[in-house]
Amino acid sequence: AQEALRQAQKMEAVGQLTGGIAHDFNNMLTGIIGGLDLIQRYNQTGRHAETGRFIDAAVTSANRAAALTHRLLAFARRQPLNLKRVDLNALVDSMRDLLVRTLGSHILVDAQLQPDLWPASSDENQLESALLNLVINARDAMPNGGSLYIATANVVLSRQAEIGDLPAGRYVTLSVLDSGCGMTAKVLASAFEPFFTTKPIGQGTGLGLSMIYGFVRQAGGHVQIRSEPGKGTEVTLYLPAHHRLSDSPAGASPVADAPRAAQGE
Ligand code: ADP
Repeated sequence: AQEALRQAQKMEAVGQLTGGIAHDFNNMLTGIIGGLDLIQRYNQTGRHAETGRFIDAAVTSANRAAALTHRLLAFARRQPLNLKRVDLNALVDSMRDLLVRTLGSHILVDAQLQPDLWPASSDENQLESALLNLVINARDAMPNGGSLYIATANVVLSRQAEIGDLPAGRYVTLSVLDSGCGMTAKVLASAFEPFFTTKPIGQGTGLGLSMIYGFVRQAGGHVQIRSEPGKGTEVTLYLPAHHRLSDSPAGASPVADAPRAAQGE
C-alpha cells in the first residue's frame, strides 16, 4: 500500500507537470498551424509549387506534434473513469484483426478465452488502449518473431492481499503473454514509472505501463507482471467482477445493488 501511494503521488506530480507543458505547447502549435495555413493560402497562385510542398510537410509535422500533446493532456487529466459492465472476451474478439495487424506476420497469435467469463467492471475505452499498448510492448520485445497469447479467466481471491493488496472477491483477468526478450529485475522494478523506457527516442514514451497501472488501480484492480530475461513476459490485469444482485456470492443484500459501492471512488 505504501508503494501504491508513492506511485500515485508520483503520477500526480508528473501529471501536473506534463499537463502544464502540454497545454502551453498546444497553444503554440495552434499558432504555428494557423500561420502555416495562412501562408499556404497566400501561396495558392501556384507559382511556388515547391514551397507548397514544404509547407505541407511542416503542417503534417505540426499536426503530429498536436496529436502527441493531446495524448499527453489526456494522460495528465486522467478523465474520470466510465466504469461499466464489460465483456472482456467480446472486447478481445472485436480487437483481434487490429492486434494481428499490429503484430505482423512474424508473430503467432493465439487466444485462450474462458467460456462463461464473468463480466468485468471497467472502462471499455481505457481497456482497449491498455490491450493495444500491451500488444505493442510484446511486439517490441519480439523483433525476430515469437508467439503471443491473450487469455481471460474468472478468478476468486479467497483472502485479502493474495494478489497485490486486492480485497478478497471475484475478479476477471486479462493476460498478455509473449515469448520475447523479457525484463531484467532492474527494468521490472521501474517498468510502471512514468517516462521509464528502454526504447530509442521516438519509439517509446514510457507512458504505456504507467497509464495502464493508473487506470486499473483506479478501477479497483491490480496489474501483475511476471518476466524472465530471454524467456518472455506475462502481464495480467485483475479487474473486479461486475456484481449484480443475482450473482453476489454473499446473497442478496440491499447494498449489493450499488455496483460502485465497494470501489472507493
Ligand atoms: P514504452 O513501451 O513506451 O517503453 P512502457 O511503460 O509501456 O513504455 O514500458 C516500459 C518499459 O518496460 C519498456 O521500455 C520495456 O523496457 C519494458 N517492457 C514493457 N513491456 C515489455 C514486454 N512485454 N517485454 C519486455 N519488456 C517490456
